[in-house]
Amino acid sequence: MKKILLSLISFLLLGIVNTNAQEIIAHRGYWKTEGSAQNSIAALVKANDINVYGSEVDIWLSSDGVPVVNHDADVTLNGEKLLVQETPLATLRKVKLSNGETLPTVEEYLNAFKNCNNIKLIIEFKTHKTKEREDELARKVVDMVKEKGLQNRVEYISFGINFVQQAKRLHPEAPIYYLNGDLTPQIIKKMGLAGIDYNLNVINKNPNWVAESHDLGLKVNVWTVNKAEDIQSLIDHKVDFITTDEPLLARDILNKQ
Ligand code: MG
Repeated sequence: MKKILLSLISFLLLGIVNTNAQEIIAHRGYWKTEGSAQNSIAALVKANDINVYGSEVDIWLSSDGVPVVNHDADVTLNGEKLLVQETPLATLRKVKLSNGETLPTVEEYLNAFKNCNNIKLIIEFKTHKTKEREDELARKVVDMVKEKGLQNRVEYISFGINFVQQAKRLHPEAPIYYLNGDLTPQIIKKMGLAGIDYNLNVINKNPNWVAESHDLGLKVNVWTVNKAEDIQSLIDHKVDFITTDEPLLARDILNKQ
């Protein structure tokens, strides 16, 4: 009886610990590994294989209105730099990632994500030249997410106020985070967002924002945290999510807590 009671207590305690679990997000997928590349489909699948909370991805709208995956504002093709948002899909498709993959469309990325059941997809909308283009990208991507039945498995992030507002309007149930670091947790709460997703330097300058966010019912995500001492310090500060290029290192440190 005593044994049963003890295991019941430890089960309940574990439950309490797990509700406060700190989580890892693979920044641009898990790309620092054989056969992978930043924002490749391989990086998404490999993030799924290492069982982290989520995989982050950056997206743009091509000049002819197709959502595509890329981090930088430009791509290099035959030695020439081309702005993604001013280049048609057919040209962007000639770009090869460092692992040999063709630059993916968001549609292809979501199709691959359908089979990645261990993780969430954290979609970063990159800021565009006009509000109209941003609205078009947000609408097309949210529609695609819903058509594919992925609406409970995605989160949205952006440096752009317009994007977080559009995501909130189009997909209000989804967790949405703001990246730019200039708004207090109180303002983020008023905007109806899930939390702050700020650079490590912003959190180091405003360490009280972690507890303030939690008091307001917001989550705290911090990017891009690659050094062991920074990962440990954020775990100690009880942030909810660590976005990192070193997901295995972060996972090892987290497992030792
Ligand atoms: Mg990003």
